[in-house]
This record gives sequence, structure tokens and C-alpha cells, in this order.
Amino acid sequence: MAESRCHIEVVPILPLHGHVALRRRFAASVERGALPGSLLIHGPRGVGKQRLALWLGQLLLCRAAGDAPCGECQSCRYAADLVHPDLRWFFPRPRLTEGDADVDDVLGDYSDAIAERAKHGGLYVPPSGSEGIFVSTVRAIVHLASYTPSLGTRKVIVVGDAERMVPQEGSEFAANAFLKLLEEPPQDTTIVLTSSEPGSLLPTIRSRVVAVRAAPLPESDLRGWLADPVVQKGLAELDSLPSGMEARIHMASGKPGALLGGAAARQAQEAATALLAALDAGRAERVRAVFALGGSKARGFFMEVLDALTVQLRDRAREAAASSKTERAAGAARGIDAVERAKERAAGNVNPQLIGAALLKELRELGA
Ligand SMILES: [Zn+2]
Repeated sequence: MAESRCHIEVVPILPLHGHVALRRRFAASVERGALPGSLLIHGPRGVGKQRLALWLGQLLLCRAAGDAPCGECQSCRYAADLVHPDLRWFFPRPRLTEGDADVDDVLGDYSDAIAERAKHGGLYVPPSGSEGIFVSTVRAIVHLASYTPSLGTRKVIVVGDAERMVPQEGSEFAANAFLKLLEEPPQDTTIVLTSSEPGSLLPTIRSRVVAVRAAPLPESDLRGWLADPVVQKGLAELDSLPSGMEARIHMASGKPGALLGGAAARQAQEAATALLAALDAGRAERVRAVFALGGSKARGFFMEVLDALTVQLRDRAREAAASSKTERAAGAARGIDAVERAKERAAGNVNPQLIGAALLKELRELGA
């Protein structure tokens, strides 16, 4: 299967911190050959469920025997670099095209998205509201499950934020194939779903998986995570975070991912504020605000910015209406519609900066 993968510097992802009891439980099941074929790891957002699922995948594929991945064999190294062909990771992504993307399109898109995550030690911000696991992805998962493993004797498929699987019209066939896969995975395949909203999972999915709960990390594990140089570097880029260790521990409250998500949301707020401020400013300001939206890799972030824009324009419309500035209120309301149209375009494969520039022009013309 052809995959487009640009050559970038690969660094191993962050080691898993915490979840010691669950790790022991998983390792014991693997050793007894009693690990269920389909699992659901659920628990609060940001506790590291997907990282734990990847750890379990690495353990299943490791060539050495033991209660943890050896970290040295070829399989472990590929897994730690997120390039193992038999350890597949899926999560919400922007919808690829208006029509149906084929399996190669989907795998190419994930290959790029995973390479981007790998650059940051496997750290990532939570998906934006418009990202999902669309039917083309479900088809790719079903397709991969039917393949013979490339390197060893097993394969593992991790599906993060599984509640974001989007039922689509005409997708019944793929949905049924996926349910059948969960119910009876091939002998050599383990499927691990994760979800922080297991109540939103389709009951037909929930009833086919064995659920285990991942709890928030104890403070000692959180300290270990925060002390990791890769984490420190990643968090240093998010300058809106509190700088002290104690303040960060307090803010995370057992969910390391909460630090990433909170900071990303604040950055999106700031980018939206800058875009609105640039409406009445000079051309240089507008160019700067658009540039800050990032290139095609930043689509998730861009979606957050658009969501923040909607909220800020709504506030603007409300304030204008309250002080009887009806023309300004109407302009802001028209602006909200323009942002909605931009969201539709952004769900496709268009560069955020292009959409941002067009949106800014439109908002000026609409008097938003
Ligand atoms: Zn190994």
C-alpha cells in the first residue's frame, strides 16, 4: 500500500506516565493470552488514554517477553517513533473531501497527522468540534483489519475519541462491517477504542467491547510527566500556561492533556481577537493576523479559531444591539454567517491562511 510520508526527524514519543495498575492488568492478560480482542479505555479527557492504548499496542507487538515493552527491539522502536505498520492510530480529523476519500487518501492523511504528532513527542491538542472519524476512516480501519501483519504476527488498531465516529447517510455498510470487526476481530488483531464520553458511543459499539477505566494520574506521576524535557519544551511553546510546577499541577488536576487543551483554547481565543482587531487596522496588521493562523497542518487549530470568532461576533452583536447600534449589530450577525461558511470550507482540504484571508475581506465588506 503506497503511503506518502515525508522524511522528517523522528523522535520517540514520550514514555507513558502513570496508569500502573492498568498496565499490570493488561500485561497479565496478555501473558495469559486472555486479552479481549476489542477493548474500550474510557476515563476523563486528558488522562492519557490514547497513550496507554499505544503502550498496550507496543506491548502486544514487542518481540521480547515481559510485563512491559522492552523498548529495544525493532518493533518497539517503530512503535515509539509512531511508524509501526502494524500499530495503527486513528483519531478525529477534518473531513477530507466533499465526496468519498479512498483508503489511500485516508491513510496518507493519518500518516501526515501522526508525523506531526511525532514531532512533538506524541503530544497533541484535543480535536476541534468539527473534526470527526468519518465513514472513509471507518472503511480504512475495516480494510486494514483484513490485512496480514507486515512485521510480526499481530496487529493493533487504536481508535481515539471513538465517540466522534460520525454516522453518515449511506454508511450503513461500513458501520456494520465495523461492528462485526469489534464483535469478532481476526485472531491476529486487537482493537482498542478510547473515549472520554463513553455515554455518547453508539450502544451497538458499547455492547461489543470490554470496557476498562483509566483514572486521573496521581500527583507523583504528573510530576514525572511535567519534568520530562519534551513536555517542558512543548509547554514552553504555549506561553499562556502558568509557569510554576505547582500551578501546572493544580491546573492539570490529574489530566496532563488538560494543560495542552487549555492553552490551545486560549491561543485560539487570542488569534480570533487579533483577527477582529485587524478588521479596523491597516493592511500589515491583517497580514499578520492571517499569517498567525498557520499552514495546512494547523487545521485543527484554525477550527478552534473559527469557533472562537463565532462567540466573539455574537458578543459584539449583542453589545451593539444593547446600545442600539443596529447597523453594527446587523454587520456582526452577517459576520457570523460568513464564519459558518468558512467552517464549511475549512472542513475540506483548503489552507487555513487562504480561508482566513478571504474571510477577513468578507467580514470587512459585511461591516462586521
Ligand atoms: Zn520490544
